[in-house]
Amino acid sequence: MLRSRYSKDITASDFNTQVTVAGWMEETRNLGSIAFVILRDRKGTLQLTLLKKKIPELFDQLTGLPRESVVSVVGLCKPNDKVRNGYEVLPESVTVLSVAETPLPLGIVDKVEADFDTRLDNRVLDLRKPEQQALFTIRDAVLDEADGFLRSEHFLEVHTPKIIASSSEGGTEMFTLQYFDRPAFLAQSPQLYKQSLMATGLDRVFEIAWYFRAEEHNTRRHLNESTAVDIEMAFIDSEEDVMSILERLVQAMWKRAGECTKELDVLKKTVTVPSVPFLRLRYDDVVRDLQARKSPIVWGQDLSTEDERLLGDLMKEKGVDFYFLTRYPLKVKPFYTMPEGKEYSRGFDLECKGIEISSGSQRIHDVVLLQDRMRACGLDPKDFSAYLAAFRYGMPPHGGFGFGIERFLMELLDLPNIRETILFPRDRTRLTP
Ligand code: ATP
Ligand code: MG
Repeated sequence: MLRSRYSKDITASDFNTQVTVAGWMEETRNLGSIAFVILRDRKGTLQLTLLKKKIPELFDQLTGLPRESVVSVVGLCKPNDKVRNGYEVLPESVTVLSVAETPLPLGIVDKVEADFDTRLDNRVLDLRKPEQQALFTIRDAVLDEADGFLRSEHFLEVHTPKIIASSSEGGTEMFTLQYFDRPAFLAQSPQLYKQSLMATGLDRVFEIAWYFRAEEHNTRRHLNESTAVDIEMAFIDSEEDVMSILERLVQAMWKRAGECTKELDVLKKTVTVPSVPFLRLRYDDVVRDLQARKSPIVWGQDLSTEDERLLGDLMKEKGVDFYFLTRYPLKVKPFYTMPEGKEYSRGFDLECKGIEISSGSQRIHDVVLLQDRMRACGLDPKDFSAYLAAFRYGMPPHGGFGFGIERFLMELLDLPNIRETILFPRDRTRLTP
């Protein structure tokens, strides 16, 4: 290998032995007879110390390389209290693996932060920054936690089609594509398939995957390609069984993020684990409270962004970050949502600090009611015949939720823009990189 030790893995037992280190040359300080190179790898940085008189060619070769070039260096590891890591490496030979072009479009360790678009235009360089590495390490950790938590609750991981024939919710916010000689869509959620799986006996499934929404608007909390944790579970008593999984999942992921102490330090963030159960707020009560605060909302409407923010502020005053909104009016929820009486539904949203992070519900499992609800929502059951077939030959009561990973990370780390939480964001104007 071109590396025997990462910077942070070097210990006193390596002192006075030869090590091979490799990475990007972050900074070079050439003082004429002595030079210092800061070499960065995945785990941190280390100092290479070069003496001109020792190996002049090597000194010239290394100090002549532009910033961010990639090298592998064999050298003697010497303890040195004056160096941050407590050691330095004195190079004996170097292999230049890649010479970086100059000038860099984006500095890695610049004091002045580049503007967001410049960062995204040069995302690969941007991702070299310790803050970005910390963020995506936390993303990896919380997804690992979601996987482990759901498996421990006997959920089976599945992967449903992302090229689909009909729109999941009957909405129009989908990307269309040509599927040979017919039109098709990119999935905006796994909704219809995960529900269908409830008729197979698999009972509890989860999926962590990509979804596509052709939403034209450009907001700080919408992406056109985003990832989500979805679950569906059968033989439930009510949507409460689903909410119980969701709140414990969120708590477990939040807790796991809190254990990423090194990464949180880099990001200068703290994480307080929420206690469960989360508060349940009835839609009716929320509307009344919002109206009392001069919101123009009328009963039967979904909360606007502004309403959500206002409610977030009200909750903050009470020291509450997480809260469910329950018993939504039937008319604001998708057709597959189980009605509760004539006007209400068994649909819920989970909000965190004034932003929706998940939506879920108990679903309709009766095929006649399901078709009635489709028609009431202006949809033609004929367009959903493959989905409806799953309900005709034995379908248990079931429910589930969709939970946006980027929304979660944005709230977890109090980030101003959802684009920060995904490697290569897709939005109204951005299709590259
Ligand atoms: P919103 O009203 O906030 O736009 P939604 O109600 O349309 O969201 P759902 O269809 O309920 O979203 O999707 C489930 C979850 O997926 C949301 O709670 C959110 O966490 C996430 N999500 C939905 N749309 C987007 C998007 N465009 N970008 C990022 N995450 C999204
Ligand atoms: Mg929703």
